[in-house]
Amino acid sequence: MDAVAPIPQSTGQATLGEVIAEARRLLEQAGIESAAQEALWIVEHVLRLPVHHVLTNRDRVLSLTELTATRGLLERRAGREPLQYILGTQEFCGLEFHVNPAVLIPRPETELLVEYVAQRIPAERQATIVDVCTGSGCIAVAIARLRPRAQVIATDLSSPSLAVARQNATRHEVCERITWLEGDLLRPLAEKGLEGRIDVIVSNPPYITETDWATLQPEVRLFEPRGALVAGPQGTESHERLLREADRYLSPTGALIMEIGAGQARAMRRIVEQTPGYRFHRLIYDEAGLERVVIVERAGR
Ligand code: GLN
Repeated sequence: MDAVAPIPQSTGQATLGEVIAEARRLLEQAGIESAAQEALWIVEHVLRLPVHHVLTNRDRVLSLTELTATRGLLERRAGREPLQYILGTQEFCGLEFHVNPAVLIPRPETELLVEYVAQRIPAERQATIVDVCTGSGCIAVAIARLRPRAQVIATDLSSPSLAVARQNATRHEVCERITWLEGDLLRPLAEKGLEGRIDVIVSNPPYITETDWATLQPEVRLFEPRGALVAGPQGTESHERLLREADRYLSPTGALIMEIGAGQARAMRRIVEQTPGYRFHRLIYDEAGLERVVIVERAGR
């Protein structure tokens, strides 16, 4: 194995090449799979340089400030903090979202929810859409961008996450078209005159079981908000509650579109069949071939 010189601790004398090599080694030692790529992203982020510059200017000497800042971020990543919290962003539906530990990091499979809503609601329709457990606001913001005539309502239990969501909506210029409501699932919709008027309720609710949570990778378990991930012993508890709460708000042609965990489709189908007023409409699989989205409609359409 090649010996790699450690980053000098006290002098400002380290080149980009040396720092990248050390960064990679540090991340590898911490068990990070894509250590080489992440090392480059972190260095590039601190120095605000494009990747090709980082790679072709390996002899450039870093200042002590740059070195200290790089080392600080590398140590956080070596402690298994997700790269997205360190860099502060995650892309979703082609848009960049600000993220911090108050919110779940948006996942690519969640884009399926947005795609399906867009498929169901034509662009010219003045639909009312509710995003439950909005977190970073990724679903609400992406839908508001895709459907400019829609009125979007977003709810979340956590006020710090609503602050992040608002910031993302402002960044993508849809803040005035989204109403933010703090509270559990659909409870904040009470007494707003929305009964029977919602066209789509979309949600990526918590769906991990208590037992599975303990087996998750440290990035998720130690840093992402537990309340955004864990539902209860079954994993489908939030879906079940949402289904019951949605009954009074959905229009006769309305639908509930929910993300689920792999292996939960059967249980969800059973829950839907046992809840009066609904029928199981469709199941959508993600790119990995896993059950990912359930669509529930009003019964008797
Ligand atoms: N709606 C957000 C997302 O899909 C947050 C979901 C959550 O907190 N459970 O990423």
